[in-house]
Amino acid sequence: MKRYAQQYIDESDILAVTQALKSDFLTCGPLVESFEKSIAEYTGAKYAVAVSNATAGLHLACLALNLQPSDYLWTSPNTFVASANCALYCGAKVDFIDIELDTYNLSCTELEKKLLQASANNSLPKVVVAVHFAGHPCDMKKLHQLAKTYGFYLIEDASHAIGGQYDQQPIGNCQYSDFSIFSFHPVKIMTSGEGGVVLTNNKDLYEKVKLLRSHGVTRDRAALERPDEGPWYYEMNELGFNYRITELQCALGLSQLQKVDQFVKRRHELARYYDEHLQSLPLKTPFRHPDSYSALHLYPILIEQNKTRKQVFLELQAKSIGVNVHYIPVPMQPFYRRMGFKVENYPNALAYYQKTISLPLYYGLTESEQDYVIHSLREILL
Ligand SMILES: *Cc1c(COP(=O)(O)O)cnc(C)c1O
Repeated sequence: MKRYAQQYIDESDILAVTQALKSDFLTCGPLVESFEKSIAEYTGAKYAVAVSNATAGLHLACLALNLQPSDYLWTSPNTFVASANCALYCGAKVDFIDIELDTYNLSCTELEKKLLQASANNSLPKVVVAVHFAGHPCDMKKLHQLAKTYGFYLIEDASHAIGGQYDQQPIGNCQYSDFSIFSFHPVKIMTSGEGGVVLTNNKDLYEKVKLLRSHGVTRDRAALERPDEGPWYYEMNELGFNYRITELQCALGLSQLQKVDQFVKRRHELARYYDEHLQSLPLKTPFRHPDSYSALHLYPILIEQNKTRKQVFLELQAKSIGVNVHYIPVPMQPFYRRMGFKVENYPNALAYYQKTISLPLYYGLTESEQDYVIHSLREILL
């Protein structure tokens, strides 16, 4: 148990990747399209674009929404830096909304307060990135209502959340948002090595993301600005990137997608086991909303006694237990500090950060390993 998360690769995954290696295409082939189609079907979103990683996906989503240097993107401080960096890639400005202390997601109450102030001084955000922290969905109906009232776009950073449900519907269906983005990094629910997907129900946004994924270059005859010079001719009308994903990664992604429900189901069993056996200890186990189904990417506990988080973390580590901390608040990062952010302005994210430890949680975690974590925590805390 050296790590808090660990991919699960079986023989069918290995076979799928091996077959892709023997095929005619290593990139830009049928498996990319097949993966996109399968993810769209799985979530119920109309369109999917597979990309090299979720960070690239966030960047493309911001570009497609035309996020400009004069614009603001708001997100949660309790996230991976990529949820905010995507704005900076566009030269745009970032701000943060403090979290709520049950779900650790951005607080809609705080958001609403800040929107009111911003509308008074003409500084409303163009985009809000809602992060489904640990797989627990944000209050999408409320966010959608605020988006309509204040006229901002909504991106779901669903990097933690494939396989989860909000209001009985798959996360990623974009029912209440403009985009949803999944990550397939090996620590996440399912993996393609590196990889991500951008989902949307809007055809124009879909086409924009697809174009920018590959240099902004088009071969679509109907989209040419200049006369068609011949069969070799292509045009670059927009500045895009190379954010493509390979056939090998999509082969793995397709094979993993078959197992994603099984992965999440097992995560729920493991989390319930932690819940039960950690109940009597001086710590707080993560909240689970009765009306939604978290993908349970993480199991963050809060240390609520005399021993500091650091002490407990070090003692767990000394027992070879793979623990981690999610997240160091983004405004606390030196790069963001230099931009003038102060973590003290996000007291809930800071208080949460100071107490949290993510316990090992992944499909292949065994019962005896889990018992060892529980037993160790008991020893350390009691
Ligand atoms: C992992 C993660 C990302 C970035 O995903 P990559 O696929 O590694 O680029 C973005 N946001 C959150 C919340 C993440 O956990």
